[in-house]
Amino acid sequence: MANQRSVTLDINGKRVTALTGETLLSVLRREGISVPTLCYDERLAPHGGCRMCLVARRDGGQGLVASCYTPVQRGMVIETDTEDVMAARRRQLQLLILDHRMECPVCERSGDCRLQDLVYEYGIEEAPLSFSRPTGLHDTASAVIARDNEKCVLCAKCVRLCSEVQGIDAIGIFDRGLTTHVSTAGNRPLDCEFCGQCVHACPVGALVAKPFVSDVPVWLRESTATTCSYCSCGCLLRMESYEGEIQRVTPLLDGSPNNGKLCAKGWLGWDITTHPERLKHPMIRKDRQLVEAGWEEALEVTIAGLRRAQERNRAITGLATPRLTNEDAYLFQRLFRSVFGSPHVGAGSAPGISALVDGVRPAYGITRSTASFKDLASADAVMVLCADPTRTHPLIKTELVQGIMQRGQKLLLAHALSGGLQRQATIYLPLHPGTEETLVLGLAHVLVRKLHGRRDGAPQPVGFAEFRKGLEQHSPRAVGSITGLQPDEIRAAAGLLASVDNVVVVVLTGSGIPGDEAAVARRGCELLSLLGCVDGPGRGILVMGEKANTQGVVEVGLHPALLPGSRLVANDDDRAACEAVWKTSIPALTGWNSEKMLQAAAGGKVGFFYLVGQDPVGDWRSGSLAREALERADFVIVQDAFLTASTQFADVVLPAAILSERIGHFIAADGMPRELQRTDRPPGSILQDGQIFLELAGRCGAAVSSGPALREEMRRLVRDPRGVSPQPKLSPPGALPEPRVMNPFFLDLSPQLFHSGSTTMRSALLKEFAPPVSVLLSPRDADAIGISDGAMVRLTVGDNQILLRGHIDASMREGTIATLPQSLKAHARVFEDITDEMCWVCVEAV
Ligand code: SF4
Ligand code: SF4
Ligand code: SF4
Repeated sequence: MANQRSVTLDINGKRVTALTGETLLSVLRREGISVPTLCYDERLAPHGGCRMCLVARRDGGQGLVASCYTPVQRGMVIETDTEDVMAARRRQLQLLILDHRMECPVCERSGDCRLQDLVYEYGIEEAPLSFSRPTGLHDTASAVIARDNEKCVLCAKCVRLCSEVQGIDAIGIFDRGLTTHVSTAGNRPLDCEFCGQCVHACPVGALVAKPFVSDVPVWLRESTATTCSYCSCGCLLRMESYEGEIQRVTPLLDGSPNNGKLCAKGWLGWDITTHPERLKHPMIRKDRQLVEAGWEEALEVTIAGLRRAQERNRAITGLATPRLTNEDAYLFQRLFRSVFGSPHVGAGSAPGISALVDGVRPAYGITRSTASFKDLASADAVMVLCADPTRTHPLIKTELVQGIMQRGQKLLLAHALSGGLQRQATIYLPLHPGTEETLVLGLAHVLVRKLHGRRDGAPQPVGFAEFRKGLEQHSPRAVGSITGLQPDEIRAAAGLLASVDNVVVVVLTGSGIPGDEAAVARRGCELLSLLGCVDGPGRGILVMGEKANTQGVVEVGLHPALLPGSRLVANDDDRAACEAVWKTSIPALTGWNSEKMLQAAAGGKVGFFYLVGQDPVGDWRSGSLAREALERADFVIVQDAFLTASTQFADVVLPAAILSERIGHFIAADGMPRELQRTDRPPGSILQDGQIFLELAGRCGAAVSSGPALREEMRRLVRDPRGVSPQPKLSPPGALPEPRVMNPFFLDLSPQLFHSGSTTMRSALLKEFAPPVSVLLSPRDADAIGISDGAMVRLTVGDNQILLRGHIDASMREGTIATLPQSLKAHARVFEDITDEMCWVCVEAV
């Protein structure tokens, strides 16, 4: 904090130094002095509501003060554990339990309740006053959270978190006096983002997560800290389990990066581990049918398929999901390169990989983000491109809400989709779909004229002269005609960026987000170069990959052009470094990308196609090419947790461990390592992905390291991505794209708040309040079309029609409707190949 001065005060007879602006509570806690609280939360502004943190001030006759919101002052004399302090706290506890229904033995939070702890600690044996508690203020109808106001201590943490951190204001404090209570507007059942923050923060049993109601007491549960596997935020969480069954999921409170926050997926989306359709044993194809088999047989059949491909000199190709751990992804590419002798290995068209490799790399010479989540929090201004993080990366959304509401951060939000964060944005630029690159070049056009050189006095980056020349055609007027924005909006956005010292640009990626993520990331990097904000505190580019370990799989070489440590396959020295460690030669050719793999397979050139957690037929846009490719490949092996559209072409299917069943490491989008700890044993005979790769390598006669030797091998080859500095370079912009004709509705197929693909669509919990086979519309569009919530709508795409249930969603942008690609594909084969043209649809009432 600026202008802070050092002051000294007396605490329990000891001289203590503090800074002005600090509260007494933070100084007391730093000194190791225990002070009870119920309403205090370091993520929120002080509230002073519960009065449990009272301490005695002896210097000026003020008596007892609430330490959570009393600022330190020079010369204060404070006592924390005198008889009058203890008596005041005891009295306060007696008042709190007056209108608290004490049913500790059967309460869901028994053993994990702050009030219960304090009552015990302060020896409260009875409530001396009588009181008639208001009843009937419960919410039991909401899908996920039950609220029992008879247990509420009115600390307001839930209300404040929902507003100050989640930015939703779904609940509030209503009435005054004895009937004061927490509720939704109109006391309706809660209908919100179901992030669970209110539940995690509630110090008592007033808010209960229905899916986690359990008869296993807290003290009998095994508690494991691990990492969420859904998106690249890498939130840390705690799993409580009993006899291998998950009892409750909560966020880690003091753990960076999420500091007590999760989203609905990370909180609730774990029930898929017990889905009845989980694959539990290997399967092999016999007489055209997949039948259960033992591991020995399945691996032998796989090796026979591999040998046939090698004998016939046919290509061997492999695609694995960026949800693999670093260790497993490393082993997969090593298996292909050093054991199978094939260069054709990668993570497919996974969103975020192209932004890092084909976007950040040409602009900075590195394949990582230069900003961390800490930089995001300390930036003066943040520009978010391509989507709304509420839907794609919810932790980023809460960081931004906190930045805006608590620190006055500026937010420039530019995308074509929907989400809700526009309510908090300083400048919201609702673009035409896929025009972010043009917008960023328009901003660069204004900034080059406005800034007259780098603000930090450094020389302009390599390529500046050509870049500036190419920008001439990107005037605000010209860019406005492509993006659909007003020239003044573009000037205002550039003005905002030019007015602050520290800027972070966030590029959100995800399946179905329109536009070229690599081009946007590259131009975002270049804009930061012009601003002198390439890296450093509060500065840099942050590429948010779709899947949890997008950054990690790039670093360990799960890419057809990259070896571990971002070495180049095409570079002799880089290859030699890997060959020396692996003690074998590897192919010198850059491998095929996923599209080339599919084309080669469809052309009958692939003898062995290995898919790990990838379902190109069901999940990718070009489903019919994938279908043809897998049909024509000689041998297909699929490793997955479920049968998928691609397994119908598989010769061998191997069951995979998921989510809480895995161990290993990720690298989150901020470049920081995260650890996965196993909570559950996988069902049946499932092995870890890496174990399967080692089994296959062993059967090929290759000695591949495992355990500590593998970790040592990776330590030698995989460099810390943060160790290499960016080298900014600018590339001249191409010609402006042609303006597109905007048809009635844009079909938004990007991730939704509760669903980000086929994994979440198997979660019964997430589906309960977000049925995937539906289409979302804005209230005004629904009105114009003449449909009510829940009515059927007809989508017409070219000559094809599909009926889906329509849901009205206030966060939808007008002129845009949203559904999941899987919903379309489940209904009609014609949607197997979703092209950009298909994203313009007619919508009508049935
Ligand atoms: S679950 Fe999240 S969004 Fe819903 S009321 Fe609680 S804090 Fe607010
Ligand atoms: S419901 Fe819980 S968190 Fe909310 S005000 Fe009541 S006690 Fe506090
Ligand atoms: S923001 Fe991402 S990592 Fe965090 S809980 Fe949600 S899905 Fe998991």
